[in-house]
Amino acid sequence: MRLVMKFGGVLMGKSENIKHCAKLVADEVEKENQVVAVVSAMSGVTDSLLEAAEKAVQGDEVGVSEIVAQLELRHYTTAKELSEGDADLRSQLTSKIQGLAQQLRQVLSAVSSLKELTPRSKDLIVSFGERMAAPLLWAALRVRGIPSVHLTGGEAGIITNSVFGSARPLMEETTKRVQERLLPLLEKGVVPVVTGFIGEDPNGVITTLGRGGSDHSATILAAALDADEVWIWKEVDGVMTADPKIVSEAKTIPEISYAEVMELAYFGAKVLHPLTVTPVQSKGIPIRIKNAFKPEHPGTLVTASPKNHKVVKAITAIRKTAIITTGGAGMVGVPSVVERVFSALSRKDVDVLMISQSSSMANISMVVQKRNLETALQALKEEFKENDVVREITVQDNVGVVAVVGEGMKGTPGVAAKVFSAVAEKGINILMIAQGSSELNISFAIEEKDVDEAVRTIHKAFQLDSS
Ligand code: ASP
Ligand code: MG
Repeated sequence: MRLVMKFGGVLMGKSENIKHCAKLVADEVEKENQVVAVVSAMSGVTDSLLEAAEKAVQGDEVGVSEIVAQLELRHYTTAKELSEGDADLRSQLTSKIQGLAQQLRQVLSAVSSLKELTPRSKDLIVSFGERMAAPLLWAALRVRGIPSVHLTGGEAGIITNSVFGSARPLMEETTKRVQERLLPLLEKGVVPVVTGFIGEDPNGVITTLGRGGSDHSATILAAALDADEVWIWKEVDGVMTADPKIVSEAKTIPEISYAEVMELAYFGAKVLHPLTVTPVQSKGIPIRIKNAFKPEHPGTLVTASPKNHKVVKAITAIRKTAIITTGGAGMVGVPSVVERVFSALSRKDVDVLMISQSSSMANISMVVQKRNLETALQALKEEFKENDVVREITVQDNVGVVAVVGEGMKGTPGVAAKVFSAVAEKGINILMIAQGSSELNISFAIEEKDVDEAVRTIHKAFQLDSS
């Protein structure tokens, strides 16, 4: 079997965990499986690097050097712990880390001289997190006697467009390069340890796939290599029917479809980066989400056609959102208003989570993340400054969106009724409703304070607590 395994920041966060990851890889190599490992930066490192970048552009040199010194020390200490008793490995590993830290200092000092932080230099800066992490797993594998090499995303062959900060893979070129570079290694039983999150554009400049993008790196490599499966290792048992912090009876979902898991990721469930399934979906390569500390637990299997079809699979919620409503009698019968609203928002990169339009067309309501609220309002005011068709723009703050997800609701009558009567029984007031035309989810907006109770009551109504 050919497997791509991804290890996130917590699993890469300390030497003890990294050794455990190496064991999970080794267990499969011993069964003569071919394994590619994809790693995230150590937990918290990407955030620290972004902070260092901000401090650099503000000219806070002391702040920058403190952060870099801490990062270097953490990796250095971990490196020493991992290479205990192997002087040669230790010197290779520590000099690698020192070299990267040195390069990072240079980039940050360039940013502070230029007083300019472009998306391109930001990508280069955050790439150091994954680049310092990959050698750590490589070393832990070496200690176990597993032949391995560490590679950056670009070195492994991941080529992306040049949209820094949220680059997309160019699959044709990527497939060619990944096969050229990784297949010979896999055939020799060598485990490539590849940095997640980062790629290279066609000019060889480092790009990133967006926050949480290591999951996506794993599926890009799996698609390029025609892997049999992708295993995403986590600290939980898989995808849950609801956030266990809200619903104590939440259960692991044994099987879920690509579309369902994407819907859940989009609506705030922190299961996978929302684009993770795209590369593997058309090839039908399954993704398994497994608990690294309970490898015998089957976890969640993501495929095109999952068994044990429940009508509703999971309930998730996004908090910290707001509803913007644009209104005005002038909007009636003016179809271009809708288009103007959405192009104004998309020009400013404001994601609209949910839309609804009253049938009189006198109102359009949309839910946006609170952090985008100011930008969204400015964009709309600018677009309609002539006061032509949109007369009022109103905002309701402190809103949460609950999404009920499951492919089985397609053509099953009564799902919406059950959702809304459960919510009504609790006296929760619904502000806005939407159902995707794919009939994969029903989502609705309520006051943020009601979110937990709504999730719990729907979970119960659909008996998701019993398998
Ligand atoms: N290290 C990156 C982040 O924190 C990518 C990832 O962990 O998937 O967003
Ligand atoms: Mg993640």
